[in-house]
Amino acid sequence: MIKTNSLKKYFFLALIFFSSISNAQKKFTIVLDAGHGGSDIGANRKYDFGYPMEKDITLAIVLKLGAMLEANKNFHVIYTRKTDFYPSLTDRTDLANSSKADLFMSIHVNSSPSRTATARGTETFVQGPGQNRENLEVAKRENDVIYLNDKDKQTLASYDPNSPESLISLKIQQSKYLEKSLLIGGYIEENFDKGGRFSRGVKQTNLHILRMSATTSVLVETGFVNNPEDAVYLSSEQGQKKTADEIYDAIQKYYSKVNNSPSPTIVVKEKPVETPLKNDFRILLMSTNMKYTDGHPALRGLKYILPIKENGFYKYYYSVTNFASIRDNNLKTSKDAGFRNAYAVGFIPNQKLNSGYYTIEVAVSESKLSNSSPILSKLKDVEREKEGRTFYYTWGKASTLEEAVALQDQLEKMGITDTTLQKVNK
Ligand SMILES: [Zn+2]
Repeated sequence: MIKTNSLKKYFFLALIFFSSISNAQKKFTIVLDAGHGGSDIGANRKYDFGYPMEKDITLAIVLKLGAMLEANKNFHVIYTRKTDFYPSLTDRTDLANSSKADLFMSIHVNSSPSRTATARGTETFVQGPGQNRENLEVAKRENDVIYLNDKDKQTLASYDPNSPESLISLKIQQSKYLEKSLLIGGYIEENFDKGGRFSRGVKQTNLHILRMSATTSVLVETGFVNNPEDAVYLSSEQGQKKTADEIYDAIQKYYSKVNNSPSPTIVVKEKPVETPLKNDFRILLMSTNMKYTDGHPALRGLKYILPIKENGFYKYYYSVTNFASIRDNNLKTSKDAGFRNAYAVGFIPNQKLNSGYYTIEVAVSESKLSNSSPILSKLKDVEREKEGRTFYYTWGKASTLEEAVALQDQLEKMGITDTTLQKVNK
């Protein structure tokens, strides 16, 4: 057996060595993903805003961007779709993984619940802080950077994807993906801002498409389809071209930066790499006894909201991040949206509650649910409590917030939606 330390070093070197070989041989591969498509029209679902649908705008921008990238000999472009059809989310991320893409970029258009949105502008999402475990599983499955050719296989004959040493190298690579995603996200939003758009910044969030891509991945929301100004801009030929230009320029900057060879036309600004904070931060928007589901006007167009019920009150938390700059950005977004008293709350990752537990409120009803109701027929051990005239149904127990969120995901997969996380103090 080889001593852990020396093996660790070996894997470091191996990774650097093999990735430099592959860089020299391979063009920089970009997977461009035009969001939605086919029967999934995207953000224009609820209303007919009188503007093109999200799926058409995303495709138009992707085709313009792709044409520019294809004309540059440094880049190889792969499209998840070039026409109006719907590839599944898994098909999209599989393509990013199987092509060993250097960059996965998904293009979208935002919307908020009201017919005419006051929310406007662009935002770029990168993988959320809580997703490392799942993303690591993907990386384990998808990543065969250590299996480049037969010679490598011989030299690394003892490679076992589950060994601690291999995990270390994969984890290093994983944090590089996040670091790089933040870098290109920053370039994109910076360009939008310089180009006169309203930039809502770079944000970390939990999205399948980001979590399941084992590479540098960003999701770009290019504006709000129901904000009149954004909609006119994004439906125009010039608006789409300018958006594509700004993203293209960001990709160029990013490419130069990661290849350490600044292109002559572009000055790359040195940006210190931000180290993650120990805690996760969420923005507390409000605390109220009203229960709002996703898209309710009271949430003012903000997405990615986690309500946590405690002592009969619903606390609405927006977004989650372990980067200070993103936290400050999220706070600004919340205040801009009208939550003047919003503030950032730190959460220690995987912290066990000293007393009490988390559970999931699966139903609130004025009448008693029958045993054949969708929820009670699917779930065992549901607890019922009556308060006044209302029945509250809860399911599951967890000692950390992360475990509780996982329970909620599990319910979602079973088709039980609109549940609320609840903290029970004992
Ligand atoms: Zn979308």
